[in-house]
This record gives sequence, C-alpha cells and structure tokens, in this order.
Amino acid sequence: MKRSARPEQSRGEHIQARKSLGQNFLTDRNIARKIVAALDLNKGDCVLEIGPGEGALSRLILQQPGVKLSAIEIDNRAVELLNRTIPQERFPQFRLTEGDALKLNWADIPGPDKNESQFKLVGNIPYYITGPLLFRALEHAEVLDRAVIMMQREVAKRIVASPRSKDYGILTVATALRGRAKMLFDVAPGCFVPRPNVRSAVVLFDFSQPPLCPPQQYTTVKQLVDAAFNQRRKMLSNALERYINARCKVTVRELTNNQPELEAVLKKRAEELSPGDFIDLDRQLSAAAKEGRHACGD
Ligand code: SAM
Repeated sequence: MKRSARPEQSRGEHIQARKSLGQNFLTDRNIARKIVAALDLNKGDCVLEIGPGEGALSRLILQQPGVKLSAIEIDNRAVELLNRTIPQERFPQFRLTEGDALKLNWADIPGPDKNESQFKLVGNIPYYITGPLLFRALEHAEVLDRAVIMMQREVAKRIVASPRSKDYGILTVATALRGRAKMLFDVAPGCFVPRPNVRSAVVLFDFSQPPLCPPQQYTTVKQLVDAAFNQRRKMLSNALERYINARCKVTVRELTNNQPELEAVLKKRAEELSPGDFIDLDRQLSAAAKEGRHACGD
C-alpha cells in the first residue's frame, strides 16, 4: 500500500530560540491540535500561517486532506529547517515565504492569492507584533473566513472586552467593526519552550458574517476610533477637537449647534461608545464634512 505523505516531525532538530524574534515554540501537542481544530478545516481550504517556527502547527495542518498552507517566517534558520523537513517535492501544498509578515503584501503570498477568494489565518505570534498583525488581519477581513491566533492573554482580554471596562479600546472596537471574536482557551507557560513570562490565550475571529461596518467605511471609522482612544480619559468633545477641526473644518461648538443628540454623544468618553455608536458618529462627521465643503463652495 502506498503511504500517504505526512510531514515528518523535525526529528529532534531544533533551533535555538531567539528572544528578539519572540520565539516561544509550542511543544504541547494537545494545544496544537485544539488550535488546528478551531480552524475548522475542510477540503480545498487555504491557510496562511504567520511565524511557523519549527512547524508545530504547520505539520498538523498539512495532515488535513486537501488543505493548502502558505506560511511567512522571518527567521532563515526556521525556513531552512522547514524546507528540509517538509520538502516542497513531497508537499506541493505547502508554500513557505521568508520575510516579515508585517511588511509583505499578503496578496502576493502564494496560496491566498487571486485564485483563492477566502483564506484562514493562523499563528502563534510573537507578542511584540500582535497589535500590528491583528490590525493587518482586520484590513484583510473581506478575504478572511476566520483567524485563530495565540497571543498574550492580556491582549486577548482587550479584544473581547465590554464597553466601559478598562480593557475596552481600539483593538476591541476595530475587531467588532470587522467580525466577531471569541476567547477560546488559555495556554499555560509550560506549553512552550522556552517558557514565556506571560500567560497566553487563543482567540477565534469569525469574519464569515456580514460585518457591522461596511468595508468602505472601515478606514475612516478606524481613524476616528484611534483619535478618540488616544485621549481616552477626556470627553470626546475635547479628545476629538483637533480631529473634527481637520476633518469637518468646523469647531466642536459649531458642529453641535442645534444638534443636542450629537452634543450628548460628544460629552461621553471613548470607552462609553459601542462599536455601532462609532459608526454612527463617523456618518455624522462625514455629513458635516460634506456640508462644510459645500459651504466653502468646493
Ligand atoms: N508557530 C510556531 C510554534 O507555534 O511553535 C512558532 C511560534 S513563535 C512564538 C513565533 C514565530 O514567529 C517564530 O518562528 C518567529 O521567528 C516568527 N516571527 C517573528 N516575527 C515575525 C515576523 N515579523 N514575520 C514573520 N514571522 C515572524
């Protein structure tokens, strides 16, 4: 009987972990299985993995029939190990790109390309790139079906926080604008080598439903959310003063003249607004900016 190609374990081969690259390799097979199960892989699925390292997740993903995997890894030692232990000739469904996942254009990565309308994202990602990487993923929400990401527990708590809590912020609102997030499970430091100093958690992002925020509005709402949380302790009328000036060419006082509802919103602080409230506020600011342009004869 012909043996099907299964990616080999790295046969005890390891690379020396580099702190500067956030390398804490997942050694707990059960956790790795749970992460891959959360991807809900089906034949024909295409997965993009960020930072495969020694391949703890990649090898399990490649065992799923009919699934394609693309991965971006910054460390050339890990790339060399993966190319040797998961060779391209035997695993044509695996594409590995050496580079920085924050800089490479994901649309250029073989796999999640023009031929693939949707892909799934996975990663046990270094803590120091979690924020930028998640914002990058949110920008790609239209082509993402779901993402399963291991991150520092503190960051995971911010993603699923409720309004008016201290964890509620830009990450929470940006995520809610694009999809739905759910904290799946915690992961103890002992599940990694070397042990990280923090607790980790796995978060599932579901982008399969229509988003709360229309895609064409996301960029402006995100800018508004950034400006609002930049000074989260202040009333929005103060925190957004300069932003509103620049965007609408009016002062806050002029903007809220005869607009009691808008005035009431701007008396709140950023953490009191739901993601839907930010979308509404953005619409009102867009309308005011348009009016301002007409008034100026633009
Ligand atoms: N996925 C592996 C695992 O679960 O064992 C490795 C996880 S380790 C926490 C993070 C991996 O991301 C490392 O292999 C590291 O080299 C890689 N990495 C760090 N920064 C990166 C970046 N900007 N782009 C791509 N990979 C990166």
